[in-house]
Amino acid sequence: MDNINKVLKEILRDKNIDLDAEYEKLKNNAMNDPEVQDFIALHQAQLKPDAIEKSAANIYEFVKQRDKFLETDQTTIQGFQPNLIISNGLIDVAYSKTAKTLAKEAAEKNAKMDLIDLPASLKSASLIDYDRTNERADALTKAVATTVAVKEKQPTKGLYLSGDFGVGKTYLLAGVATELTKLNQNVILVHMPTFIADLAKSFKENTTSSMIDKMKEVDVLMLDDIGAENLSQWSRDDVLGVILQYRMENQLLTYFSSNFKMRDLEPHFVETKTGIEPVKAKRLMERIYALSEEVVVGGQNRRHQ
Ligand code: ADP
Ligand code: MG
Repeated sequence: MDNINKVLKEILRDKNIDLDAEYEKLKNNAMNDPEVQDFIALHQAQLKPDAIEKSAANIYEFVKQRDKFLETDQTTIQGFQPNLIISNGLIDVAYSKTAKTLAKEAAEKNAKMDLIDLPASLKSASLIDYDRTNERADALTKAVATTVAVKEKQPTKGLYLSGDFGVGKTYLLAGVATELTKLNQNVILVHMPTFIADLAKSFKENTTSSMIDKMKEVDVLMLDDIGAENLSQWSRDDVLGVILQYRMENQLLTYFSSNFKMRDLEPHFVETKTGIEPVKAKRLMERIYALSEEVVVGGQNRRHQ
């Protein structure tokens, strides 16, 4: 560093530029800055006698970064603004989050992922470490594309991830959910077979209907393992049907995962304990088609690796 300074000085001297004088000028301007002056006056008692001389470079950095921030709303450290502080009797610069950064973080903290009947470990699923194999590349690319659309506030359908047991469908949904919460979207990811089974078991008018409302209205709903649940006429038409109808009408982002291909899901909806109703099954399928695009997730069963 010293060598570079020496060389620079020599070049500038040759060009008749007096670096020391230039630096003095910049330093003096910074020193005379009203905010700097106020800071020095306020903290006089804490400063060492030679503090101002020794802190000149820091003071200069502060004024330069502050002016940049005032002019462009940015500093060299994205999202942070400079502050003068006292450190060991000298003046130093510390960077703190700007009001905008704080507001953004506060908004992001409010968005959350609700896992229903699924292991909490899925909260740490990430698209970044998603193990990319050829059979899953398409699903991953499309999954990322949906998050990009949300980020850019473009409309997008959700995905219907179909594929065998253990290929990573649930994990992929959870990874998308993680990204979407970062984009300030509230996400509910629900394991359908367990949810539907418990719904009938623990039916309470109020809690059940408030749960259904949440699933209707949440920013992003992910129905995991659809097709494996044991539906009654009520849970098919008044729970699943109602939720999907509302989400379709309001164009709310909805994802599915299933062991069934989309075209093989319809028969599952046809029959309940009370009868065979192909029209109702078709209507439900139309909502799923409208809400999502199918993508096949392939590969090996990862559960025994
Ligand atoms: P599916 O829902 O298709 O049955 P899962 O998402 O449950 O499959 O994945 C099966 C197992 O593999 C789980 O233990 C999961 O944590 C793990 N897994 C899946 N995908 C990944 C991945 N990309 N990186 C790390 N672990 C994964
Ligand atoms: Mg699964």
